[in-house]
Amino acid sequence: MSRAGEGVAHRRRRSDVTGRFYCVECGEYWPCAAVADRKPLVLFDVDNTVGCGLGGLNGPCCEPRPGMSLLMAALFMLGYEIRLWSAGGAEHAEKTAEQCELTDFITGYHDKPDYPIQADAVVAMFGCLPVLSIDNDPTERVEGVPFVEVSDYWGRHADEIEGIVMRRG
Ligand SMILES: [Mg+2]
Ligand SMILES: [Zn+2]
Repeated sequence: MSRAGEGVAHRRRRSDVTGRFYCVECGEYWPCAAVADRKPLVLFDVDNTVGCGLGGLNGPCCEPRPGMSLLMAALFMLGYEIRLWSAGGAEHAEKTAEQCELTDFITGYHDKPDYPIQADAVVAMFGCLPVLSIDNDPTERVEGVPFVEVSDYWGRHADEIEGIVMRRG
């Protein structure tokens, strides 16, 4: 039997014979042991969601969104697994988490799949669908995953960025 590790998709399907749900991957009745053992996954975007997004690999330090560390600590203590993903790549996600001092709560860093993001690609990446996705960009919503859209967080650069956006029209 496969565990619900990276790249292993445990998905339920209803049996035509018994009418009960079973796991397509390992054949056990649903929820299979791999799914039952697994902590529910909460997925966070990186730039302008967990932090200001201006802490590039060689750039200035990323500022964490106020309250983010409290939110992650609470989710962590309630038994959720927290992962970060970023179109800027896994390394950028991890670097940002380090700068924002959030790494104690996070178990993995990932690149985002190709757009538009498909549920299958997400399952292939995590082995399950997240129970919640939190992002500043509503176009990154994944079908079948509850979604919370947060406002863009720019940190102390907010005025500067607003100015840049306004000048660019
Ligand atoms: Mg973002
Ligand atoms: Zn299974």
